[in-house]
Amino acid sequence: MWAWFSNLPAFRLRQRKPVVKIGMSTAPIETTSTSQFREAGLPHSIQVFQRGWLSSNNVLIQGAEHRALIDSGYCTHAAQTLALVSHALQGRPLDMLVNTHLHSDHCGGNAELQAAYPSLKTFIPPGHARFVQDWDPYALTYVPSGQSCPQFRFDATLQPGTEIQLGDARWQIHAAPGHDTHSVILFEPVDRVLVSADALWERGFGVVFPELDGEGAFDEVASTLDIIESLQPAMVIPGHGAPFRDVDTALTVARQRLDGFVRNPAKHMQYAAKVLLKFKLLEVQQLEMQALIGWAESTPYFASTFARHFAGVELSQAVENLVKELVRSGAATMQGTQIHNV
Ligand SMILES: [Zn+2]
Repeated sequence: MWAWFSNLPAFRLRQRKPVVKIGMSTAPIETTSTSQFREAGLPHSIQVFQRGWLSSNNVLIQGAEHRALIDSGYCTHAAQTLALVSHALQGRPLDMLVNTHLHSDHCGGNAELQAAYPSLKTFIPPGHARFVQDWDPYALTYVPSGQSCPQFRFDATLQPGTEIQLGDARWQIHAAPGHDTHSVILFEPVDRVLVSADALWERGFGVVFPELDGEGAFDEVASTLDIIESLQPAMVIPGHGAPFRDVDTALTVARQRLDGFVRNPAKHMQYAAKVLLKFKLLEVQQLEMQALIGWAESTPYFASTFARHFAGVELSQAVENLVKELVRSGAATMQGTQIHNV
């Protein structure tokens, strides 16, 4: 998750005519397109459902024997995720569900998919497995970030340093700490396709969450970028935004952004706070300023982590200032006291 929202208009403009358009829930309609990725060299066995920024992308891999999905989006879009998958599978079952990490926008559709496909086997990174086993929404970050994720089960873990069969190909599992300590990325070495989750986007990477918990993780972000470079992917399917082939430029942009955060960690805190607010706006689309302030006061990352960062400023004032910045950057509008997602 944790989109850099200023990318949003650009990526919308880049999208061609969508091949699938589904708006069956109260959540905002999302579009997806795979045709342009195919032209860009994506193997035919792989379909990317490029979602809006609230949900992560979903990667469907179909082989002769079985079918696997990587990441399942946010819970308010779970019906859309299921519709996209079942439409693509045309009556065939989904056999495997793989989560790169357990942020709410990457596994929010797990429960719905598990209910729809009873024989589905779910694979998660090992780091948070015990918290899924005991279902601890605090340790899984859903409570601290003020987000939701319906409880799901898992069947096995994705051990870094091993491989997993997805469709007809073997995919390498690599540890990718930084954005999330326990995230993995997946690499298919024949076609050199990398599923990079939130470790690398076309223009940046996700919020470095361990930093919010006071655990330095900028070094881990750098090491993960080095691992990605060493894999020399021909195509990257990121957790958010369109797949891309210019990996060198993406790595340069990511390293520049990281450098800015290392030199000025307050900039990262500011970015993280705005991302969490924008995520809330994406989820509810519009709300009163007072309701957003109330949400922030009851959300631990705001009530404690960011409150320390905004020392000397009332939390309500800090939220209002952040909203003003969202409006200035075109990520929100205000009508009276009502905030609208853009
Ligand atoms: Zn994430």
